[in-house]
Parts: sequence; C-alpha cells; structure tokens
Amino acid sequence: MRKFKTESKKLLDLMINSIYTNREIFLRELISNASDAVDKLYFRSLVDEDVQINRADLAITVAFDKDARTVTVSDNGIGMSKDDLDKNLGTIAHSDSFEFKADQNKEGLAAADPDDTPVADVDIIGQFGVGFYSAFMVGKKVKVISRAYGSDEAWAWESDGIEGYTLSPAERSEHGTDVIVSLKDNTDEERYDTFATESGLRQLIKRYSNYVRYPIQMEVTKTRTLPKPDDAGDDYKPEYEEYTEIETINSMIPIWKRRKSDVTDEEYNEFYKTDFHDFEDPLDVMSLHAEGTLNYDALMFVPSHAPYDMWSKDYKKGLALYSSSVLIMEKCEELVPDYFNFVRGIVDSADLTLNISRETLQHNSQLRAIARRLEKKIKQNLASLRDDEREKYESFFSEFGRTLKYGLYASYGMARETLADLLMFYSAKQQKMITLDEYIADAPADAEAIYFAAGDSKERLAQMPIVTTVLAKGYDVLLCDENVDEFCMMALGQYASTREVALEGEEPKQWPLKNVGGEDLGLTTEAEKEKAEETTKENAELFDAMKEALDGKVEKVVVSTRLTDSPVVLTTEGAVSLQMAQMLKSQPGSEEAPSAHVVLEVNAEHPIFETMKSAHAAGETDKVNEYTQILYDQALLVEGLPIDNPLAFAQKVTSLMK
Ligand code: ADP
Repeated sequence: MRKFKTESKKLLDLMINSIYTNREIFLRELISNASDAVDKLYFRSLVDEDVQINRADLAITVAFDKDARTVTVSDNGIGMSKDDLDKNLGTIAHSDSFEFKADQNKEGLAAADPDDTPVADVDIIGQFGVGFYSAFMVGKKVKVISRAYGSDEAWAWESDGIEGYTLSPAERSEHGTDVIVSLKDNTDEERYDTFATESGLRQLIKRYSNYVRYPIQMEVTKTRTLPKPDDAGDDYKPEYEEYTEIETINSMIPIWKRRKSDVTDEEYNEFYKTDFHDFEDPLDVMSLHAEGTLNYDALMFVPSHAPYDMWSKDYKKGLALYSSSVLIMEKCEELVPDYFNFVRGIVDSADLTLNISRETLQHNSQLRAIARRLEKKIKQNLASLRDDEREKYESFFSEFGRTLKYGLYASYGMARETLADLLMFYSAKQQKMITLDEYIADAPADAEAIYFAAGDSKERLAQMPIVTTVLAKGYDVLLCDENVDEFCMMALGQYASTREVALEGEEPKQWPLKNVGGEDLGLTTEAEKEKAEETTKENAELFDAMKEALDGKVEKVVVSTRLTDSPVVLTTEGAVSLQMAQMLKSQPGSEEAPSAHVVLEVNAEHPIFETMKSAHAAGETDKVNEYTQILYDQALLVEGLPIDNPLAFAQKVTSLMK
C-alpha cells in the first residue's frame, strides 16, 4: 500500500465527506480527463509519424453495471504507465500551482472540521479543481486500469480514497484507460444508484459533456417489434423484444464554434429549443467569435416570448459557461447585465480554467471583459432589429421592453447610452409605437421638449384634457401606460438624439422629458401667463375658499393656461406625479412614500367658473364647498385615479340632478 501525502489526504477527506453537493459532476470530470487523454494521443499522431492513429477510432465509452453498482469511463487515449499512475493519481495536484493555491487558502483548509462552515471548503475544491478525485464523491472505491500507448504492459491503480492506494499488474488489450467507480451505498440524501442507470448517465452526458469533441458511447437498451409470423391468426398481437446497441450520446460539434454563415436557421432553432427548453424558435440569434488576448465563442438568443417565470423572483439570468466545450456552469450571471436578462445562450472559452469557482468568478477580469463585449453585441443586434426589422423589434419590445425600461430606472439612468435609443413609447399623434429619436425627428421646428403622459390606459390618456391641449398645439405626446414608464422617464431626465450630428465643439441638443401633468411645459406665451396670474390674484378669496374646501388635498388653486374644454385639471409640482404617488401608495411600506404636490387648475373661460364666482360673491359657502369637491373628484376620475369617497360623490351629483 502506498500512502497519500498528508495534504492530499486532507483534501480527499474534504472532497469525499464534502458538502460539495453537486456530486454528479464526477462524470463530467472523468469524461474530460478521457477526452484530454484521447486528444494527447491524437496530437502525438500528428507530430510523430511512428504513431499511427485513425481519428475515427478514438472514442470514450461509458458503461454501467446495475448489480455490481459500478460506473466505468473508458478511453483509448494515451494511457498511463505505472509511473504515471503513481505520479498523477498518487498525489493530488502534484503541480506547484496547487501548493501556491493551498497557501492562499489556509483559512479554507482550517474549515475541514465538519462542524465548521462549509463555504470555504467549496471554494478550495473549486479552486484546485475537482478532477479525477471527484470520483470519490460518489465512489467508495475507484479502480483505474491503464496501458500507456506504445507499452505492452497494463497497470491497475486502486484506492478507497482514504489512506492510500495500491498498484498492481493488470490486463488491457489496447492502450487507454478504464476508470471503474464502485458506487457508495445509498443514503437518505443521495441515491447513488441512479448513476448506474442508462437514463441517469445519458442525462449527465447530455448536460455536461454534450459538446466533447470525441464520441461518448454507451450501450443502450431498445425495444423492437418482432416480425409477424406467417401463420399468425386474426387475433395476433405484436410482440416485442429488447436488444442492445452502442449509441453515441453526445452531439460533439459545438454549434457555437461554427461560423454563422455555415449554420442554417433550422440548426440554430433546433439547438435553441433543445438546449433552452423552449417550444418556439428564437426571435434573434447572435454569434460571436472573439480572437486576441482572450479567445472565446458565444452564441446568444433572444427568445420570442418571455418565459412564464420571467417576472418572478425565482427567475435566474445568465449564460451557460463552457471551458473547451465542457460545461462549467449552467447560468453564469456575470455574463449579462440585468437589463438583458432575457438573453439565453452560451459562452465557451479555452482560456478559462475548468476550476473556476463562484467566488473567483466575481473577481474574474476575463469574464468582465467578455461580458462587456457581449453587452455591446446584444445592443448592436437589437439596434439593427429596430432599424431593419421593425415588426420583429416591436414584438421584441412588447415582450421585453419593460426590462429595458426597468434597467434604465434601476441604473439611475447610468445605462442610458445602451438603452435609451432602444426604448419605444406609444405616440398619441402617430398612433403607433415610436422611438425617442423618431419623436424628435417628427417634432415641429419650435419644439423644445419630449412630452409624455402617464396613466393606466392609453385610450383614457388620449382623451385627457392636458394631453389634447398639447396635441392641439402640434406637439406629440407619448402615452405611457406601464408602471415603470414614469420612473424610467424620470431616470432618463433628458434625451439627445443619436441621429443628429452635433457640430464640432457643440454639445448635442438635449431634449428634456416633460410630463404633461407637470409644471411649466414651456408651451404658454408670456402674455398668457401674465393674464392667468392676474386672474388668479383677482380671485384669491374664491381660490382660498376652494383650497379650504379640499382640506389639504391640494397645495393651491390657480387659473390654468392649458385648458380648453374642461372646467378644471389636476397637475403637480415637483418630481412626484399623481400617478406615481398613487403607485407608491400601493407599495408595501408606503407610509414613507413621498406624496404629490397637487395643483387644482381652473379654466377661467369655462361657464362653471362664473357659477363659482357668483356663488362665492353671494356668500353661498356650502355651494362653493360642494362644487369644489365635485370638480376635484371629477378631475381625478378623468385621470383614471380613484376618488376617496365615491358614495359622497354620487350623492352630491344626484342631489344636483333633483
Ligand atoms: P487534471 O486533469 O486537472 O490535471 P486530475 O486529477 O483529473 O487533474 O488528473 C490528474 C492527471 O492524471 C491528469 O493530468 C492526467 O495526466 C492523468 N489522467 C487522469 N485521467 C486520465 C486518463 N483517462 N488517461 C490518461 N491520463 C489521465
């Protein structure tokens, strides 16, 4: 018996008894080793003419024995001599780099005590690579039989992964290696048995090793109908028999490594649907091959529809991360920003190590560089959809536009460069979705702002007096009916057209985004303003009485400059609009939410104003109060907002009708 070195033993202990819950990756690790061994032999055949290999013969085989409870991974690669077995498998991570990493991880090692927090352990395993020893996470015994290429003797390495291992002469008809894992006994938490089943292994091969370059073969059981005997009667029932067949389980050629021009749409669609479990073709496919200091291939998809859980807390963004066609992580969040969380896809880089752990990921500058490049690519593709395939883009936007708007808001406008020109809103004038650039392009020459109105229905917004007056003056109004719209507009603040080219040394023109219900739209002349102020002053007493009647619901009552047909309108001063205040009120913890500074604007040209004036002059306080309350409630209803006391409102209207 040869003993493991002390450090090796500690690590083995850790791994075997570990907290590392993802035991199934042992198969991926063994298959990757097998693929490396085959690769090594193949490359040797390219440089050494004495090595005669037919590439088509190179393969990896996965086998299982239900009764003996073993899983075997075999390859006909380069194999290992007795010395290789001793050196490669006798010491965990014989390389210097391990010692270096172990040093950095002293704290982690100290956590080997099972009562201790397991977090650091996972990290160690991640950093040093699970590799061959992961076999001990599922195996109580592992036997490796190997014959090095060019040698005529085979050796067996065997270990229970505790104290040490044995080396003994063995038989193997051909160069290559078999790793035979004797599965542990089942526990309540883990059914090790499933690793010795056809379906269990098939699933793992598909999940983790689908794109390994060599065929991964397995003997599978199938059924077929027996031929109908000649003398079969009318009541003949077909009979079946089981037979076995060698099947290649993996699909081998990674589609993401191929040039986009070499792949058909059908191939992409099939790949997307199988790998990302969607039943619909993707809306857009993006392929990227980066070469330079960092080499990688990426293939990304925009789904046609948002998945059902897109807006739930459980939704996880991210792309699958591969290292040399072997899956490291199914959803690597770091690769896509939140506002592109709908993008599905994969990134494969030979420059990333397999051993990358979650902890190291966050600090990984290579990943950040990839993520930046991918974000640009996604943006570019969406922009060309917007410009060249409008219908598709609108369909995309109706599915995922909310995510983009939310991204702008959540980044406090920081993401404007990426997102602002991708946004679309409904134009009241053109009666269709338009971009901010299109708004600007269509605006009258004297326009200074982008106007929008927010509420819960486009139809209702379109009829609101404050919207129709702006429209009547020739300016378009964007009708925003999604909760996030107003927040997005606020985060954006202003917009500079990406189409206009600013003259040298000149800043591009900034268009402020203005809520039509907000203060000073910049649409009234000085004369109009003065006149309104004058009338307001003249009627100060009446307005004070009206404000009183509303009992703190409005900050002030003034004469309006923006009304034509309606008697009154509610507007706001400051950042919080009526709709926003309403929305904030409906959120949990709303006691702290800021409220709107509401202004009741009165139309001095409307006959009702005369009625109010004479009631006030005649000292009919009750009438003034009642009418003011009705006008206020009406204004709320027009905005699509709830009124405090619908019953009182109905009674007041009824009594007027009597
Ligand atoms: P890693 O693969 O990260 O180097 P492992 O612990 O998985 O670490 O394997 C240690 C070494 O054992 C490998 O570097 C390789 O030289 C050798 N080895 C493992 N599996 C095989 C195999 N199937 N055929 C040939 N050599 C192998």
